[in-house]
Amino acid sequence: MTDRYAVIGNPIGHTKSPMIHASFAQATGQDIDYSAIEGPLDGFAGAVHAFRDAGGRGMNVTAPFKLQAFELATDKLERARLAGATNALKFEGDRIHADNFDGVGLVSDITRNLGVAMKGARVLLLGAGGAARGALLPFLAQQPAELVVANRTLATATALADSFASHGRVIASGYGDLAGQRFDIVINATSASLKAELPPVPADVFKDSKLAYELVYGKGLTPFLRLARNAGVPQLADGVGMLVEQAAEAFAWWRGVRPDTRALIERMTIPLA
Ligand code: NDP
Repeated sequence: MTDRYAVIGNPIGHTKSPMIHASFAQATGQDIDYSAIEGPLDGFAGAVHAFRDAGGRGMNVTAPFKLQAFELATDKLERARLAGATNALKFEGDRIHADNFDGVGLVSDITRNLGVAMKGARVLLLGAGGAARGALLPFLAQQPAELVVANRTLATATALADSFASHGRVIASGYGDLAGQRFDIVINATSASLKAELPPVPADVFKDSKLAYELVYGKGLTPFLRLARNAGVPQLADGVGMLVEQAAEAFAWWRGVRPDTRALIERMTIPLA
């Protein structure tokens, strides 16, 4: 029997998840059906329960429901608990299991696909929203030499760093304090690029950088990537690899088989020039 999965978000029209999971299913010989559901803004829980009650086995969750999905879950894995958000649910009887694969997907893309080591690296993460929160535990597991989180609203970065204190050292910073500092890896986890805006990061931070990574994908050379390129950063990437890698983690969690991601990432990558 075909097992059913779905991604739920609002809006959902732009989602690439059904295509990604159909491609994984074909490559691994798994019999699944994966659809997209536009969740009602005032009825997320009802939509999830309806999907499960109709035989659904699991869901991916995207904006704006990642926090509500966390609240709805009965069993929360550590990454989801620390992120306070979930992007994947698995249904087993009346249990709703929650995990968060965004951060591990990002780390896989940086270390495996792009070949940039995070161990011993000085890492600068811009933004302190849900994506940054989900990235911190997987980042700390890589043992960076330094992990700095910079945010426009400094208090949010400070609260975020404090909440990870028992897992490792995260340094909170305002953008102004970054002047004169250098980082091996600079990651833009703000949503500024969605509005073609540039977080106020000083160009100095890129002086020794090996990689500038933009979480937003499909927008070509964003103001952040342009700044990094002009500062001479040798490797630039957008978040398409992260998207595919987090999908592969969810697929493995649901189906017990991890699909290969490289060919799909290559197919989906839009040149940044
Ligand atoms: P949130 O809304 O939770 O957080 C947004 C963050 O961006 C905040 O830290 C906010 O700062 C900051 N910000 C917004 N505008 C600006 C600006 N003009 N200058 C400086 N900082 C700014 O979003 P998420 O964390 O959920 O997502 C962030 C981005 O990551 C999104 O664009 C999303 O598309 C992308 N993403 C990509 C994924 C992928 O698979 N590739 C997966 C998940 C997310 P402040 O606190 O001061 O408001």
